[in-house]
Amino acid sequence: MRPQIKSVCFLTIAIFFLLIMATRLAAQYPQPGPERVFAIKAGKLVDPEKGTTETNQIIVVRGRKIEAVGANVTIPANAKVIDLTKSTVLPGLFDAHTHLCMTLKKDRDGNSYFITTLFDPTPFRAIEGVANARDMLAAGFTTVRDVGNAGNYADTALREAIERGLVPGPTMINAGRIIAPYGGQFHLQPEKRDLATPEYAFADTHDEMIKAIRENIHYGATVIKIVVDDQKYIYSAEDIRFMVEEAHRDGLKLAAHCWTRAGAHNAAEAGVDSIEHGQMMTNEDLQLAKKNHVVLVGTDFTESAAREDGFPDMHSVFVDRLKRAYQIGVTMAFGTDAFVYVPGETRGTLAVEYVDSWVEAGVPAKDTLRAMTINAARLLGVDAERGAIKPGLAADIIATPENPLDNIQTVRKVSFVMKDGNVFKND
Ligand SMILES: [Zn+2]
Repeated sequence: MRPQIKSVCFLTIAIFFLLIMATRLAAQYPQPGPERVFAIKAGKLVDPEKGTTETNQIIVVRGRKIEAVGANVTIPANAKVIDLTKSTVLPGLFDAHTHLCMTLKKDRDGNSYFITTLFDPTPFRAIEGVANARDMLAAGFTTVRDVGNAGNYADTALREAIERGLVPGPTMINAGRIIAPYGGQFHLQPEKRDLATPEYAFADTHDEMIKAIRENIHYGATVIKIVVDDQKYIYSAEDIRFMVEEAHRDGLKLAAHCWTRAGAHNAAEAGVDSIEHGQMMTNEDLQLAKKNHVVLVGTDFTESAAREDGFPDMHSVFVDRLKRAYQIGVTMAFGTDAFVYVPGETRGTLAVEYVDSWVEAGVPAKDTLRAMTINAARLLGVDAERGAIKPGLAADIIATPENPLDNIQTVRKVSFVMKDGNVFKND
């Protein structure tokens, strides 16, 4: 009997602590009722689309949305005033290339996330996703596009938990299982063929491609992610076009991972919604991408990110391509691909440090900020709801000590975060 009594006691204590934690979390992150009103006094207010700054603006937020913006807006009597007169206020940032439900631990996994997927089951990865989502929000990222590597749809669970207000996090567009030619991004051995499942959906024929896209949509994916070229056999432009058409028919966009020149060329020719990485693209490929309205999500690895990820020589390749893509005028959205655990850092601090590469490539601050907001909002298809500080849009609002149009590095010091009308951070 004693062991049973013990376990009942333990269970009671565990439930007690869970309840306390749940109450505390709710206190930290209340969901606004329709009548909850804030008036944010902004010393400076940046419009990333126009690249302009207004001074002494008032933003009225009611419930989840922005109600009014301007210098002479009347503050409603019931509004809680938030004083950001010493800060610069701007729309929340976007990261168009995240893997929230995967964290590679180098001491255990080396540089291989194949190992990560063998050790970390989907439930653990969903919890990891909760922590990474919270940390992204704390760094100022209010919307992300999560491009797969989430086990068995941990990303769908995370997106739904955030949407229901169970946990704080950015608005998520999620890819579910990555669709790829046989083998995905791994190199399997014939006795253990299933080890890439469920991380990748292998699709080599057109029937398999349609099936993989529909399965993904059924299980909650809101964007389709394909890997074009991590095997010797790569998707042709015709294969990619076939998948783009199926995704678009179902109302989803398609993101294409391209690590080689040939793969990026095929994706640019097929007119994907976005090329991910694309560091080997020639100027002709970049011209082709521009002509076909392909957005480049360059994941421009900083020197330290490239080193941590095990390809230190690639940093300069990414910066060079970023420079050329900017000069050619390819539309770009900020995306990071941060997924390695680094002691002392969070997923958010690791992601925002990618602005270093943009500075190094000589991209002007106003264009970097556009890539981090409006360009990404359009790529993700959420620009009618978020990505700018305008009446009617979601109240996704952040503040920085300096004006990012003068010094883009100030986005690394986000001091205030409001997400859908909830104050998440106010240092
Ligand atoms: Zn990635």
